[in-house]
Amino acid sequence: MASYGVTVTHATAAWVTELQDALGTGTVLLDPDVTAAYARDQAMLAPAGSPAAVVLPRSTADVVAVMQVAGRHGVPVVPRGAGSGLAGASNAVDGAITLVMTRMDAVLEVAPADRLAVVQPGVVNKALRDAVAGAGLFYPPDPSSYDWCTIGGNLSTNSGGLCCVKYGVTTDYVLGLEVVLADGRVLRTGRRTVKGVAGYDLARLFVGSEGTLGVITEATLALRPAPQRPVTLAATFATTAQTGQVVERVVTSGLVPSLLEVMDNTCICAVDDLLHADLDRSAHALLVAQSDAGGEAAAAEIAALADLCREAGAEFVHTTDDPAEGDLLLTARRMALPALEQLGSTLIDDVAVPRSRIAAFLDGCDAIAAQRGLVIGVVGHAGDGNMHPTICFDLADDDQRTRAYAAFDDILELGLSLGGTITGEHGVGAIKVDWLEREIGPVALDVHRAIKDALDPAGLLNPGKVFRGARAANLAGTAAGR
Ligand SMILES: Cc1cc2nc3c(=O)[nH]c(=O)nc-3n(C[C@H](O)[C@H](O)[C@H](O)COP(=O)(O)OP(=O)(O)OC[C@H]3O[C@@H](n4cnc5c(N)ncnc54)[C@H](O)[C@@H]3O)c2cc1C
Repeated sequence: MASYGVTVTHATAAWVTELQDALGTGTVLLDPDVTAAYARDQAMLAPAGSPAAVVLPRSTADVVAVMQVAGRHGVPVVPRGAGSGLAGASNAVDGAITLVMTRMDAVLEVAPADRLAVVQPGVVNKALRDAVAGAGLFYPPDPSSYDWCTIGGNLSTNSGGLCCVKYGVTTDYVLGLEVVLADGRVLRTGRRTVKGVAGYDLARLFVGSEGTLGVITEATLALRPAPQRPVTLAATFATTAQTGQVVERVVTSGLVPSLLEVMDNTCICAVDDLLHADLDRSAHALLVAQSDAGGEAAAAEIAALADLCREAGAEFVHTTDDPAEGDLLLTARRMALPALEQLGSTLIDDVAVPRSRIAAFLDGCDAIAAQRGLVIGVVGHAGDGNMHPTICFDLADDDQRTRAYAAFDDILELGLSLGGTITGEHGVGAIKVDWLEREIGPVALDVHRAIKDALDPAGLLNPGKVFRGARAANLAGTAAGR
């Protein structure tokens, strides 16, 4: 178990008592059997400590009180949403407070005339989508975990999802934020207007900062008109090169599907085993696409995509304008991860490559699987090049576990060698700290450290995550090592 090297030197009881006095005992959880449930997210191999206390604030004032107590006593604070993350970003730090934002779950305002919503960070992504649907509006970022992850987590990891190929990622919808800073001050930044360039774009500085710069307590988010009824396509291919060719042709021909997803043969067979869906188990890749351009435009867009698939040599192409059948086709994609979990423990990677390199990436993953003697299934957002190679292995087998770690790193290396990034949407968290500098270089890392030191000079917010800062390095020690 990783300790992050944090030594709590003060009298624990003093800060706990101050927290209880400020927030009430029901808000501060201390029973280790209870707090253990908040120790880690869904990244099974990421290091995690044990929280000294779990605090569930109900208001911005509560969060301010927590940061003031933490600052006075030098206690680290780990912000946390639903814990659905896949990078260990909300994993506990020994001796620290884990600040769970799920009780702040109100949709404060839906404003159709300004096409925006104001929400607290604990709102679940799907709850926001449902809340605005009644007004004919749409909040597009849709991580596959959308029915339980929170908007605060989405903002802090700059989440993507299935429809990002057309609609962009979380940051594209952020108008303004309220953030409690490490010293307890409340920063309100951003706007309600469509345009606005007053000062630095501080709101976006916090987007993707993984809880290391401040605690988000409110967000003003842009919305879009509800999408039209979708038309759906599924196509199978005998080679990954053909799949890559289709994605490239989609980009160069100017088609903008609202969804373009890919699964490799390992995923196809795993889903077929789980759902008995009569999928073509010999296919090397399955593409699923949707267009929500509306009526004839959507049908025309999917027909053009079907032509591209046939030209590339697709073995099977099927299209439907029946939303229920479209949902069934999408189920195969959505069930890829649960299906792979039937094969053993899973280590999910998250690499984005330029769309012209998708075929090379898929082939490279096949080669890594063969070299390391492991099963690796690849499912991904083909439309934006964000791939999730998922390593399946036996956790109890030391040799397999070692090879799984090695394959995880091989995949990051492969992604960088193809001009890609070590994380397309899950974040750096605790599992890719050692990789960040390799991607961004020493100058960018210095800038990261300068920003961190300006906003959190004591290094109290989520130490050991994303990168090792100057002050944070003293606190975090050798934190993220596996
Ligand atoms: C099955 C599955 C599918 C997934 N699919 C996708 C996908 O398609 N796209 C995608 O992007 N991700 C996906 N994820 C990953 C995960 O769901 C997202 O990263 C999500 O945004 C995390 O939200 P959360 O509420 O669970 O946050 P957590 O995991 O609890 O925390 C994530 C990060 O946010 C910080 N944080 C949380 N709340 C706050 C706050 N209020 N203020 C400051 N920092 C905060 C934490 O410190 C941590 O750094 C998937 C996960 C699973 C398990």
